[in-house]
Amino acid sequence: MIAERADKLIPLISDTESKPTPAMRVAIANAEVGDEQRGEDPTVNRLQARVAELLGKEAALWFPGGTMCNFVAIKVHTQPADAVIAEAMSHIIRAESAGVAFSSRVLVEPIATDHGIFTAAQMREAVARLKTVGTPYGPPPKLVCVEQTHNFAGGTVWPLDALAAVSNAARAEGLTLHMDGARLLNACVATGVAAADYAALVDSVWIDFTKGLGAPIGAVLAGSKAFIAEARRYKHVFAGAMRQAGIAAAGCLYALDHHVDRLADDHANARRLAEGLATIPGIEVITSVPETNMVYFDPSALGISHAAFLDHLANRGVRMGQVRGAIRAVTHLDVSTADIDAAIQAIRAIAEAPHAQSGRGGTRSGY
Ligand SMILES: *Cc1c(COP(=O)(O)O)cnc(C)c1O
Repeated sequence: MIAERADKLIPLISDTESKPTPAMRVAIANAEVGDEQRGEDPTVNRLQARVAELLGKEAALWFPGGTMCNFVAIKVHTQPADAVIAEAMSHIIRAESAGVAFSSRVLVEPIATDHGIFTAAQMREAVARLKTVGTPYGPPPKLVCVEQTHNFAGGTVWPLDALAAVSNAARAEGLTLHMDGARLLNACVATGVAAADYAALVDSVWIDFTKGLGAPIGAVLAGSKAFIAEARRYKHVFAGAMRQAGIAAAGCLYALDHHVDRLADDHANARRLAEGLATIPGIEVITSVPETNMVYFDPSALGISHAAFLDHLANRGVRMGQVRGAIRAVTHLDVSTADIDAAIQAIRAIAEAPHAQSGRGGTRSGY
């Protein structure tokens, strides 16, 4: 039911919801194209060169989406039965249908954290856990994965020095590093750190064009020439090669030119939402100062279930989602400041409605 009405709701469920703008559609319509599978699509080639330069890597490779970048990168970095270290709530573990187990046959050793960012000491402990038994038969650690920004921890940013510490510790252990940089550019806009400075600390990194950047299709993975040559082979194994993909890559180039700096607006809107929600009794804001474009909050004290809360919210014209036992709202280029104010109003109305009071011991009379 909500899905049928989705087009009319303020779209805060994810930054994947943004639609290509009219100007992006013009860029897409005018794209020069060729056969991507043969390496002959000029727009894809331009995008790859552009992302390699942005990330300070030798080479880059176009993909239909980010999940495939993770699968291919992990496949290139590992052999079956290697161990991969990743944060416990990372997208690789929680949201890819155990795809790395299927596609790379690796063991993933999780590191539990509060905010998605682990320390060099925690990474070394994970390596030590893998080597607990003092025989050659422990799972051999090979790769460390980091997520920038960390989605299910609240859009949190890996600080450059924290990442440098993990990178140094991993390299000292002979491990390679991969960054799931789905929202790396959100981190760059939030901190002012250049993408290449984060990327220099990892061996492979990709960015997603379908999140805050607002393109309809595409992600680009970057690394050394040798890494990208192998990645091209596995992209084909995973059936990710495309034909006139410049149609989609043109939207990504447009996004690099026009949609990066404006991520700051999304971050400001997330802060505005968090501040507004903090004034509503019964709403516990988990990300009280959002670092990027996500707000997590818990309306349990209103005495209604999360599902009922979302249903009331949809009835009042706003769409959010449930993640990690909380409500998540994600800002993006199809959410205006006026939309944020309308969302705050809608939630205030739900909190003040009679149905919300029953669970609070009848402290207010119904009306
Ligand atoms: C969205 C996302 C992905 C997957 O990207 P798709 O383009 O949707 O396949 C991977 N990691 C993180 C952190 C994400 O948010």
